[in-house]
Amino acid sequence: MSDPNPFESLQEQIDDAAAYLDIDEDVLTRLKHPERVLEVNLTVELDDGSLRRFKGFRSQFNGDRGPYKGGIRYHPDVSRDEVKALSGWMAYKCGIVGIPFGGGKGGIVVDPDDYSDSEIERLTRAFATELRPLVGPDRDIPAPDVNTGQREMNWFKDTYETLERTTAPGVITGKAISSGGSAGRVEATGRSTMLAAREAFEYLDRDVSDATVAVQGYGNAGSIAARLIEDLGATVVAVSDSSGGIYDSDGLDARAVKSFKNETGTVTGYDDAEELTNDELLALDVDLLVPAALENAIDGDLAEDVSADVIVEAANGPLTPRADDVLTERDVHVVPDILANAGGVTVSYFEWVQNRQRFSWTEARVNDELEAVITDAFDDLVAAYETNDLPNFRTAAYVVATRRVVDSYLEGGNWP
Ligand code: NAD
Repeated sequence: MSDPNPFESLQEQIDDAAAYLDIDEDVLTRLKHPERVLEVNLTVELDDGSLRRFKGFRSQFNGDRGPYKGGIRYHPDVSRDEVKALSGWMAYKCGIVGIPFGGGKGGIVVDPDDYSDSEIERLTRAFATELRPLVGPDRDIPAPDVNTGQREMNWFKDTYETLERTTAPGVITGKAISSGGSAGRVEATGRSTMLAAREAFEYLDRDVSDATVAVQGYGNAGSIAARLIEDLGATVVAVSDSSGGIYDSDGLDARAVKSFKNETGTVTGYDDAEELTNDELLALDVDLLVPAALENAIDGDLAEDVSADVIVEAANGPLTPRADDVLTERDVHVVPDILANAGGVTVSYFEWVQNRQRFSWTEARVNDELEAVITDAFDDLVAAYETNDLPNFRTAAYVVATRRVVDSYLEGGNWP
């Protein structure tokens, strides 16, 4: 069976929440579709002088609560529907954590491993040039996502500023500190994943420091979540990346595994750890499972094999709707992506605020403010979950977020 379309998964999640909210059908329909999607064809000169065409997208989902905000992904599987889904998840993510942004997302269909650094730079500058009419510090503010980071954000900002003949660091977030980035931004997604895990264990009256943990995906989000959850005293027994997984029942050393991956490019081959497949990792008998790779990692069948009691979604959309149904039925608590990985967009918001203030916050301030945002959002989720007797945490998060998006739309009114 083919993977569910992530855009249809998003729409199903909104419908699930809307069942508990009093929203007119026509308003709901509006909240299930992006306001606009731009498709671009980028022509880039390769190092050998030949030209290559790349397809890219930017989806602006909802601007009722503020400028569109969301990352840029470089991956061969990027598609119009994936970008639309990711932009919608961003809108509801900003809603649950209460930051004044709408949702956006962009992507280019490319495997960056196939291209040199200078080719990726030209590709990024071509994308920034095409997006220029749509983006801006008060319009749409991109950020990093899979296979993009500070380097691409710096090039994007430089291209925009050069074309606009201005300085506008707030046009993009996730920049290097010396280019107007924020302390704590690189760690932010992993940090909110850790905070969400900590809050969930506390809510369930469980001690996170006794927990065993498996992490699927060992990039920015997964490796930092693993390290920070390990710092809470938990034991990370398994991690994986696209090369496969590694397991040690006595616990891996999250930092050492990251250094190994930085040197060799993969987690497999690390020390004396046992090797396992990604599907075996997802079914491991652990207390906490953190999917931190891509969408649809756990489908309905795999959900039957999941042995973890708690799942905290660092990735966007790692569970199919069918997996959600199975896990709800099996009483597995899932802290949804729109809250668990919201650290990225929250510290992006802090970066944007600092860019506007032309004043830099300390890392301690960033981390403290982030902790307050995530714990408040978790409290809002729990209040909705208990008050409305909701089936799971995801529906609770969407109930809170959808209410906020709907309210700002209705307050503004429809025009023209
Ligand atoms: P990344 O490129 O840094 O890391 C992705 C990791 O996933 C890599 O280790 C890769 O090898 C691994 N991977 C890819 N396919 C896999 C597979 N089939 N099985 C196992 N591992 C696989 O990307 P990232 O920034 O860490 O993003 C990961 C997820 O987190 C994405 O869903 C992204 O949308 C989400 N996210 C990231 C941020 C952020 O600030 N970076 C913010 C919010 C959400």
